[in-house]
This record gives sequence, C-alpha cells and structure tokens, in this order.
Amino acid sequence: MRISLLGERELIKKIAAVVGGVNDREAVGIGDDAALTRISAGYWLVTAKDMLVEGVHFLLPQTAPADLGYKSLAVNLSDLAAMGARPKNAFVALALHPETDSEFVLDFFRGMKELAMQFDVAISGGDLVQSPGPLAVSVTVQGEVLREKALLRSGGLPGDVLCTTGPWGASAAGLLLLRENYNCPEDVREAALQAHFRPRPRVEEALWLAKSGAVRAAIDLSDGPLKDILEIMDASGCGAQFFARQIPVHPAAVDVARLAGLEPLELALNGGEDYELLCAVPERIFDGLACEYAARFGTPLYPCGTLTEKKDLEMITGGGKREKISFTGYRHF
Ligand SMILES: [Mg+2]
Repeated sequence: MRISLLGERELIKKIAAVVGGVNDREAVGIGDDAALTRISAGYWLVTAKDMLVEGVHFLLPQTAPADLGYKSLAVNLSDLAAMGARPKNAFVALALHPETDSEFVLDFFRGMKELAMQFDVAISGGDLVQSPGPLAVSVTVQGEVLREKALLRSGGLPGDVLCTTGPWGASAAGLLLLRENYNCPEDVREAALQAHFRPRPRVEEALWLAKSGAVRAAIDLSDGPLKDILEIMDASGCGAQFFARQIPVHPAAVDVARLAGLEPLELALNGGEDYELLCAVPERIFDGLACEYAARFGTPLYPCGTLTEKKDLEMITGGGKREKISFTGYRHF
C-alpha cells in the first residue's frame, strides 16, 4: 500500500513491529516523544550520523530496500567501530516520496534489523517526513566507550605500522559492475556486490583492538584509503608511506579491475566504501598484536605502510621506488 494511503501512524506501528522492542526492558524505544536509553556507568557516549541521498549515495531501483537498510546502519556502525565503541542504539529518519510503497519501507527496516541483531543494536526511534523528490536516509547511532580506550585519528607517531582489518577494493568493484555491463564470472560478481551492498562493520575487531591498548590512531575506510589516510596524517601530524606490494587488494577487485582495464591497486586505493579499519600501531608490538589478532579472528591484520616524520604521502613501489601521491578519493562536494 502507498504510504500516503496508509498514513504515518500506521506506518510507524508497522515499523515498530518489524524492528521489535529494545532488549533493555526499562528502556523506551519507538512510540513515545523521545527514546530513553541506558548508558553504562563510567562510559562515554559516542554518537555518529551519516546521511544517504538517492542519486548521490545510492541508486533506485538498483538498490534493494533491505540492502539500503542494512548499509545505512553498517556505515554508521563502522564509524563507531573506528572509535573503538560498542554500539547500542540507532535512530533512523527517512524522507519518503508519498507514492512509496509501505513494503519498501518495511523491507528497509527488515534489512537494517538483520544487521542490528548481529551486534545487539536497538533501533530506538527516528522520524518520517515527506520528500517531494529523492529518498533520503539519515541514521544516528550511539555507543559507549571508556574514555582511555577510545580510538582517535590523532595519536599516531612516525614509525608506527599502518595496518588494516581486511582487503580493499571489492565495494568499488561492485559499483563498477552496477554501472557497466561486464562479462563477469558469477562468483566474482556476487563477492563484489555483497561487499558493496552489505559491508560488514568491524565492530568486534574494533572492540578487541581498542581493548588491546596497542592502537595509537584509527579510522574506518569510507572515502578511499588514499583520502582516509590524510585524516590520520592531519590529526596525528605525520606523513605516511604505503607499500604497494603489501596493499591487500581484494581478489574480486583484481578480477573486476582487469575487466575494466584498470590497475587493481588503483581501484583498491581510490575506490572507497571498504569499511575496514586502518590503524597505526607501534612497530615493536605489531607482530605480537597481529599474531593474537589472527588467532582471535581467523583473518590477518594486514600491515600496509608506515607513518613518517616527513609530512607527505608516498607510495613505495615494487622496485623500492618512492612516488609522491596525491589523492583522488571520493569528493562529497
Ligand atoms: Mg569514518
């Protein structure tokens, strides 16, 4: 049914039924003027917000509503992960065209709930408004962290190892496949589209890394590593070098880059939306940390560069050549 026929009150009731009650019995979620949520004693509240607009951040009908719901929460949880925080609550505002089918909205929340349940995140409230044109999704997430365990972009020092929680470029490969009609093997297509539509925020990994106390600076990779590293460089007052041979390029990115006539490394470095963490770790403890990390998660903590005194961003190529690089990451404006 069209949402203009169903009406806001009924739609909100249906959404509340989809996302379910919050786990905390005393908490108040959807259905009152505001949400009442608990914060653990001694913890700091961490808040992040990310907004997605149809035609700018996603395309319809190429994006399934459940994927959109999943991803709009995933990108926010990734920001909390980058702070080393445990996520607790999500608030969702949608600007919807009156012709939108109510099932589209409910599927959006079904996809979102799928991810929320994995990390015990309550969808606690939000807002619905009318949009004369494109669909807009704004999600706010809240989590908690001990102040001394919070991961910040500042704090990195020259000599620190830059490492990342997973391979890069698969999401950008998925975006290329959506835009162009390449003759791509089905398993590669599936891996790339999965990475693009359903990125897995590194929540557990981030909590573990924050607890280890070994990480001096961290960011989540959203705009492309060459752009995201600039944020750590800026905040930490350092330069950085990436080692071309050590960049973990996702296999799907390698395959799709070949189909598109691109360098796989270029796709991995400029692509964006990987939602892996990029961390700076003191060199003398990196090996031990990486060993424990691999034992805990079954995946490597990939070393891929180093922070430097000199404030440039450089790529050390296979032959040991130094190349100064300028970023071409995603530009919002
Ligand atoms: Mg971020």
